[in-house]
Amino acid sequence: MNTTQRILIKNHLEHQLADLIQRTERRDTVVETCADDNEYASRISEQKINLAIHMRESSLIRETEETLGRVDHYDFGICSECEKAIGIARIKATPTTRLCVTCQQLLEEEEGLLAWVS
Ligand SMILES: [Zn+2]
Repeated sequence: MNTTQRILIKNHLEHQLADLIQRTERRDTVVETCADDNEYASRISEQKINLAIHMRESSLIRETEETLGRVDHYDFGICSECEKAIGIARIKATPTTRLCVTCQQLLEEEEGLLAWVS
């Protein structure tokens, strides 16, 4: 990976992080007084969905911050399993990845087998 590619990925991650932080700050997670039980139940369902989205976004924020911390490191873009270079197209699509396509597929197959066995 060359310097220009690193800078582009870093910029992309910084924009993604700013966007995620802005979205989580705007998300309403308060259930106010409701007219009746049906409205209350509906608001609670809505808030459960908001909470799930919020948790997913918080996880993405942590992942993005962690990736920004290692993007300048010499082994960024190297698969943590097989230590081969991760394709630039994959890094552009999923900058937070630590695995190449082959190792990711193997991992997913193993997880699929484990889910099937249990
Ligand atoms: Zn690999």
